[in-house]
Order: sequence, then C-alpha cells, then structure tokens
Amino acid sequence: MYARPTTLDEAIVLLANEPAQVLSGGTDFYPALGDCPVRGPVVDVSRLKELRGVTTEADRIRIGGLTTWSDIIRVPLPQCFNALKAAAREVGSVQIQNRGTVAGNLCNASPAADGVPPLLALDAEVELVSKAATRRMPLAEFIVGNRKTQRRADELLTAVLVPRVIEDAASTFLKLGARRYLVISISMVAAVVLVGHAGRVADARVAVGSCSAVARRLRALEGELIGVAVREGLARRVRQEHLRPLSPIEDVRATAEYRRDASLTLVQRALNSCVGAS
Ligand SMILES: Cc1cc2nc3c(=O)[nH]c(=O)nc-3n(C[C@H](O)[C@H](O)[C@H](O)COP(=O)(O)OP(=O)(O)OC[C@H]3O[C@@H](n4cnc5c(N)ncnc54)[C@H](O)[C@@H]3O)c2cc1C
Repeated sequence: MYARPTTLDEAIVLLANEPAQVLSGGTDFYPALGDCPVRGPVVDVSRLKELRGVTTEADRIRIGGLTTWSDIIRVPLPQCFNALKAAAREVGSVQIQNRGTVAGNLCNASPAADGVPPLLALDAEVELVSKAATRRMPLAEFIVGNRKTQRRADELLTAVLVPRVIEDAASTFLKLGARRYLVISISMVAAVVLVGHAGRVADARVAVGSCSAVARRLRALEGELIGVAVREGLARRVRQEHLRPLSPIEDVRATAEYRRDASLTLVQRALNSCVGAS
C-alpha cells in the first residue's frame, strides 16, 4: 500500500487500519533504505498542508510537524528561536532544508539531529495524534535512544509546541564538524539566556547534541548560572564536571575525549555569544 492522504483525519485512519511507515520529506527515509527498495505499506504525509507552518497562540508557539527547515529560516520568530533558526541553516544543504521537516528530524531521532538541542533548550513539547487520541509530551521524554522514540505506530507527530515564557532571551546554536558545510556534527550546543534586572542571568538553558545517544540539557550548569552577573562572564563558570550528563562515543568522526573537550569550548562560546561577550 502506498497512500498519499490530503487530510490529517484520512492519514490517521490509514495508520489505524494498517501498520505503515510514515514518509514526509524523505531525506532520512530514503537514505536509510540503502540499496533496498521500499518494503511494506507507506503513508506519505507530505500533502498534509494543515501540518505545515508556524502559528502563535496565546501561551505557546506551534510549529506544524511538516514545517520545513527553510520555513523555519524564513518565518519571523521571537529572539529565543535564533538557535533553532541557526540550526535550520545547518541541516544539510538548501535542497535538504526545502524538503526536510521538523517532525522527520525528531522522529528519526539521530543523536546528531540538529533540531533537537535548540528545541530541548526551548522546553518544547511534541503533539502526537492517532485515531484514538491526541497526547503531548516533553521532547526530552519523546526521544528515548539512538533512533528510538515513544511514537506509537499509529501516531503522527503533528506539532512541536514551545511555551512563550522566554521570548526575549538571546539564543545561539554552534555546530562543530570535520568541515564547515554539509556535515554531521562532532558536537553541537544550543544555549538560551535571559538576562534580568541588574544584568544578572534570570534563566539559562544549555543543550548538547552528538555527545550521547540523546541530546542532553546541562541542568547543573543552568542552575549555577542563575543570578550570575553577565559582566563577570558566563564562560568562566563552565567546568568539565558540568558535562557529566554526556556520554560521548569514539567513532570515525572524533574520539570521546575530543568530543568532551570540544563541547566544553562550544558551551563557553555559546554562552558568551548569548550575552554579547567574546
Ligand atoms: C545529504 C543530507 C544531509 C543531511 N544533513 C543533516 C544535518 O546536517 N543535520 C540534520 O539534523 N539532519 C540532516 N539530514 C537528515 C534530514 O534531512 C533531517 O533529519 C530532516 O529533518 C528529516 O525530515 P524528513 O521530512 O525528510 O523526514 P523523512 O525522511 O520523511 O522521515 C524521517 C523519519 O521520521 C518519520 N516521520 C517523518 N515525519 C513524521 C511525522 N509527521 N510523524 C511521525 N513520523 C514521521 C519517518 O517515518 C522516518 O522514520 C541530512 C539528510 C541528507 C540526505
């Protein structure tokens, strides 16, 4: 079966009737096949226009699952989304950004998915819809391992929801690869920093990707940054022990030790960049 529904209702009925693979932009789906043809039923969701685009609601920003990386780059968003926009510009090439979707990036659940750290730093939730129910969960709980998520076979990831609590915060995304362009990262960091009264940090979020099976927030560091005067410099507060939630692997791209070392520097640079220090 190959179906290309045009409404969400139609799509979830198809998924309820028969277990099928979901196909969106296809930029992860097709490379994962290698030399094999597509096997088994496919529900191609790429015509579900209702799932594409960004809308601002009273207390959150809703990013439709079919929103592409090019859409994210183009659409006006509050300052705290600058890290997500920067990550969007790093997803493959412009052609990949035109096809690749936010939902595809999250559901594929690669440890190196560029969309994950910025959305983790924004405390994003995902919305999952099936014929039976709609449920929401924090992105931090949705991705549970390398290529593993809590999505049930009959569910579609319909939206990413970002609470509108730190819209004025500065944010940065830094990605380190073996070359500058079209590269899988060795480490990447998203930071969001809100500076409050008297130039002190009111909120800080730091997420690191490519250094554990699932991108991780550095909660101990975030806690220590609260109340710190920006003029004292945030980078010098970062210590190797703050990276304990990470468990970098050794692979063709880098050693575990290099990943740890590089991540420390990236976190320092990202925090400095958020507060305009060099
Ligand atoms: C040359 C190249 C370079 C790339 N570079 C990068 C990079 O630098 N950084 C990066 O992060 N990624 C990169 N990617 C990976 C890819 O482009 C992104 O992850 C993209 O966002 C995937 O979106 P998609 O719509 O193409 O997903 P698809 O390939 O269509 O689907 C991916 C997975 O998600 C599932 N899925 C898709 N949509 C939904 C949905 N709405 N609900 C439920 N399940 C769904 C599919 O079943 C599949 O398992 C690259 C890919 C290529 C080919």
